[in-house]
Amino acid sequence: NTNEMTIIFDSRPANEALARVAVASFCTQLNPTLEEVSDLKTAVSEAVTNCIIHGYGGEVHKIRVDCSLCGQELKVDVTDHGTGIPDIKKAMEPLFTTRPDKDRSGMGFTFMEAFMDEVSVESEVGRGTTVHMKK
Ligand code: ATP
Ligand code: MG
Repeated sequence: NTNEMTIIFDSRPANEALARVAVASFCTQLNPTLEEVSDLKTAVSEAVTNCIIHGYGGEVHKIRVDCSLCGQELKVDVTDHGTGIPDIKKAMEPLFTTRPDKDRSGMGFTFMEAFMDEVSVESEVGRGTTVHMKK
């Protein structure tokens, strides 16, 4: 018995909080600690911000967040249909950023990996990116 939830929203900065809160409230079925909820929110924020800034470069298109709960395992997938990532391995290195001009520190993926148990990225240039996370 799996429980699933999907939300699709515009890539506007105001919707980052919506995504974070939706995932956090979905996961309350697991009776998480405050710290676990806060870690999850941080990871979701980082992934959604990346879609907004890098995936769509400020243009407004759709971002999709899929959540599923199976037993004690929570999966969260964050998808955009934007630019895609040419070198995923490099993109995930701490401090790597393609937007130093925009005050980015290149730590988003590092935070996602620190706050979640598993993070993997699927991406195709010109097609988009999905970040899969498990907790
Ligand atoms: P920070 O997250 O610290 O503000 P950042 O976003 O540059 O900085 P990461 O989140 O680690 O750092 O992402 C690293 C790089 O991976 C980005 O600079 C960007 O080039 C690429 N990237 C990440 N997510 C996406 C995405 N959804 N679409 C296209 N490129 C992405
Ligand atoms: Mg980032």
